[in-house]
Amino acid sequence: MGIVVQKYGGSSVADAQSIKRVAQRIVAARKAGNDVVVIVSAMGDTTDELLDLAHQVSPLPTGRELDMLLTAGERISMALLAMAIGNLGQEARSFTGSQAGVITDSTHGKAKIIDVTPGRIEHALEEGAIAIVAGFQGVSQTSKDITTLGRGGSDTTAVALAAALEADVCEIYTDVDGIFTADPRIVPTARRIPELSYEETLEMAAAGAKILHLRCVEYARRHSMPIHVRSSFSTKSGTWVVEAPEEKPMEQAIISGVAHDRSEAKITVVGVPDKVGEAAAIFEVLADSQINIDMIVQNVSAAATALTDISFTLPLADGQTAMTALARLKDQVGYDQLLYDDGVGKVSLIGAGMRSHPGITARFFKSIADAGVNIEMISTSEIRISVVVNEDQIDDAVAAAHAAFDLDSDEVEAVVYGGTGR
Ligand code: ASP
Ligand code: MG
Repeated sequence: MGIVVQKYGGSSVADAQSIKRVAQRIVAARKAGNDVVVIVSAMGDTTDELLDLAHQVSPLPTGRELDMLLTAGERISMALLAMAIGNLGQEARSFTGSQAGVITDSTHGKAKIIDVTPGRIEHALEEGAIAIVAGFQGVSQTSKDITTLGRGGSDTTAVALAAALEADVCEIYTDVDGIFTADPRIVPTARRIPELSYEETLEMAAAGAKILHLRCVEYARRHSMPIHVRSSFSTKSGTWVVEAPEEKPMEQAIISGVAHDRSEAKITVVGVPDKVGEAAAIFEVLADSQINIDMIVQNVSAAATALTDISFTLPLADGQTAMTALARLKDQVGYDQLLYDDGVGKVSLIGAGMRSHPGITARFFKSIADAGVNIEMISTSEIRISVVVNEDQIDDAVAAAHAAFDLDSDEVEAVVYGGTGR
């Protein structure tokens, strides 16, 4: 049999009892004849707790030291898991990201994997051991410093190692039974999606669905690595993320799901002179600050004033940096003022069938209107429609859209086994 890569998220290894439970699953996979490589996240909310601690001792800790601190979380769980497996009579060896050969660029806090050289992992497997790897971390090729891959980055470690080891599958174990048509924490009647394309999964991850790290799906798609998302608390069949799901004509899944994102903020640059190059100047300073912009809306300029407003959304975490960068640009661009709104969120409808079915947008907007929710901004891709709404109305909008596209299941099949749904 081949190599199986399994990744266990923080809620699956939240305490000693959970670690012992997970150890049993891993040993079962090994006994079934597989070579097993396991990637672990930090226990429970450890990463958040370490972050809090850092900010208690310094308002602006450096990226280098933050990464050094945060990677400790995964080192705790990897060593404990190796011990628990050892206790079951199977040999397991733990490795840091650096020891596992995860080589990254040097951007602290959101490093990109540029190479994986898993020699030590292969050696451990050859000797019959189970390899346990700390997720979410690597080592910079240039500075040799320890880096992290961004929140939720253990998924990406798992797929990167699976690809480098030419594993048959990358199994991602979490606290729900796969990918659902909406977050079961908001819509209890959400349905499990048995198979999903990389393309749709990418859109879902980008739209804020917490189930998989965006980079992980990009990586899997590039390397055609099948991802199997499952619960570590049950033996249900989960969701397969693959290139081309099998057609199921009876089901006609035009829409695959509704995703939401609470971690957005909106900035409006008011009174921008309607001249060539102004938008470029604004977005250049944001790019220089390494900020990813999501939606952008530019109003038609009022004929009398020749001034226009530009609004855009961005990650809440980058809000302060963006405002500071834009404030420095005031004289150069000559805008009137900057407005900042962190009380917004995004609701997205995703489905490959959107391409060939008219009327989806109208039905989506109507459902949101019927729920009494006002739409502040709109953006679309070929297979996604997203709207920005007031943060307090996200849940209502998600539930309304989910019902409008007949995604509700008759019985409640979505079980949330643990975690906080961070
Ligand atoms: N422990 C890290 C986080 O909480 C990485 C991960 O869980 O994938 O973001
Ligand atoms: Mg985590």
